[in-house]
Amino acid sequence: MSDQPKSSIAPPEKRAAAMEMVLRRNSALPDGFVQEFTEHADDAWVTANGARMVARAWSEPAFRERMLADGTGAAREMGFDFPEHHRHLVVLENKPDIHNVIVCTLCSCTAYTIIGAAPDWYKDLDYRARVVRESRTVLREMGLDLPASTEIRVWDTTADTRYMVLPEQPPATEGWPAEKLAEIVTQDSMIGASRLEEVKG
Ligand code: FE
Repeated sequence: MSDQPKSSIAPPEKRAAAMEMVLRRNSALPDGFVQEFTEHADDAWVTANGARMVARAWSEPAFRERMLADGTGAAREMGFDFPEHHRHLVVLENKPDIHNVIVCTLCSCTAYTIIGAAPDWYKDLDYRARVVRESRTVLREMGLDLPASTEIRVWDTTADTRYMVLPEQPPATEGWPAEKLAEIVTQDSMIGASRLEEVKG
């Protein structure tokens, strides 16, 4: 037993405010930077980017090949930001008997410029710890009940490798134009928490 008070970690917004204060105090934060950065993130780093890549991959076999070979190149080809420090975007192709799911066991890294900011559950310690050990159970709890015959592959994001899942195109959407296809692609499907099978034509 110790008389030391238990350490507690402040919530993210308090920690961010503290960092901002220190940076300002040291004149390391140009005026307007936080606002401009936030606005750019809100406008440009959206789920619709990845959804458009998926829709194009479904519609255009040559783009699909390029995207699977070099996700970073495919993202930049479509004019989307992909920061240098993210290094690689690896696109994981779902198949009828193979399901890919993404996690960052260390924190909450994701290809946020392509699939949008990580959802809260993705940052949750419970998800990060359990999806690696009992992926089938965790996915079932999230509403994705995969048959035992489907192999589940779990990909752990690192500082310099970001992933996105290329979901299978729902059969009912065969022949749709890419713009319409992009509307059905969800962030969850690009993380691997759903498979879009419920989409009807
Ligand atoms: Fe992380």
